[in-house]
Amino acid sequence: MSEPSEAPEPSGLPDPSASAPSDPHELTVLDPATEKVVATVPAAGAADVDAAVARAARVQPAWAALAPADRARLLRRYADVVDAHLDELAGLEVREAGHTIGNARWEAGNARDLLLYAAGGAERLLGRQIPVPGGWDVTFHEPLGVVGVIAPWNFPMPIAAWGSFPALAAGNAVVLKPAETTPLTALRLAELALEAGLPEHLFQVLPGHGRTAGRALTDHPGVAKIVFTGSTRTGREVMERCARLVKPVTLELGGKSPNVVFADADLQAALDPFSFLDNAGQDCCARTRVLVQETVYEEARDILAEALAAVVVGDPADARTQMGPLISRQQLDRVRSYVPEDAPALRGSAPGGPGFWFPPTVLTGERHDGRAAVEEIFGPVAVLLPFTDEADAVRLANDTPYGLSGSVWTRDVGRALRVSQAVRAGNLSVNSHSSVRYWTPFGGFKQSGLGSELGPDALTAFTGTKNVFISTEGPAQ
Ligand code: NAD
Repeated sequence: MSEPSEAPEPSGLPDPSASAPSDPHELTVLDPATEKVVATVPAAGAADVDAAVARAARVQPAWAALAPADRARLLRRYADVVDAHLDELAGLEVREAGHTIGNARWEAGNARDLLLYAAGGAERLLGRQIPVPGGWDVTFHEPLGVVGVIAPWNFPMPIAAWGSFPALAAGNAVVLKPAETTPLTALRLAELALEAGLPEHLFQVLPGHGRTAGRALTDHPGVAKIVFTGSTRTGREVMERCARLVKPVTLELGGKSPNVVFADADLQAALDPFSFLDNAGQDCCARTRVLVQETVYEEARDILAEALAAVVVGDPADARTQMGPLISRQQLDRVRSYVPEDAPALRGSAPGGPGFWFPPTVLTGERHDGRAAVEEIFGPVAVLLPFTDEADAVRLANDTPYGLSGSVWTRDVGRALRVSQAVRAGNLSVNSHSSVRYWTPFGGFKQSGLGSELGPDALTAFTGTKNVFISTEGPAQ
């Protein structure tokens, strides 16, 4: 397949942002495991965004003027408050997003840990002095002002944290719009910020629809930067809108990541089904293109068949559960559309309704350029594809307009290094499926994104670089 000019969108399905919301003034949060209503939340409109940005702009200068140690102290106190509410936050994530309780606890802990890391960053956000004849030259990193964060539903709490906490630590105010289906953990995080003593209006969460609140935030001249995490389709629109105001944007978009498994690898570890089933496959880093050297293809298929059959799918609040439901009926329909009933596949099991359940699935008869091998499905579905040799593996791994993540499995160190250099993706792991640590950078290549989050440079991404030259020669006579 030659590289298409645009990442393929889910084919034959409506653009989710094209249809009018059923109620423009309210969001209904459903428990995806039961389809019961968990909460209804008012949906912000453009006027609410306007008011929130104005409030944020009023409080931001005093926050930026605080000594870094004082900002850090408040953020550490915020981390303590989050820590005291970990179980509550995790429970909310289970109910609004259907995440397993084990994953949800990790997510709440990730938000707390990032707060602590970002707090330290506030104290280490240093400028530079560069020698210039005739004076002193100083480079500063100044906060941008009000930052807009737009988050998706698949990891509502960590992604709210990744966009917001480093921005706050760098001296900015944040207005965050969570996804329509998952506003609750973000709302709670904003309440906890107040409880910890952060200034009122510094971190505001405005649930709302993408086409109204999301666009209003993107278009707002008082918002200095947008951090958007979501689909490549929406990311493209956000970037176009930001371009009108030459507004900086960080984009964390879709993925279709390879898992490259050579014959000499530890096959059991390499074929861990949670490399694509984590969060029911609603994971931007999911290794959904399982590329296996042809000499071990049959063995790989047997390992996967056995592993899928053993996956425990069910009540996400039960600590024994390994995989929960999909987020919504719409997402279930989308995933189903990639897996015809007669498609050659390995399948696990899943509960019936109510709830949005889909069984763990590996398609075995798909071509490397078939729809399920090319498009981001965002469900518990991978494709198993053979490759011949190293060059073929690299060609297939790169044969996608996405470039978010991926794994390489081999015992040959030289090959591991060559392949990880040759694969065009922002986050790769060798003999591992790990993708995200708050202290290392995370971001996509190609149409998986622009810029990165987390890691040592997370705060700098929320600053403007200013250079000031101070003449030592005195005023001109
Ligand atoms: P989405 O693009 O539909 O929505 C994301 C957010 O954008 C939501 O808050 C939505 O309300 C808002 N939005 C929708 N239309 C908008 C518009 N026109 N202007 C401004 N905002 C708008 O994505 P989703 O379905 O919620 O999330 C799933 C996608 O997110 C997948 O493609 C996944 O790969 C991607 N994702 C990427 C990363 C990453 O770090 N690269 C992480 C998680 C998810």
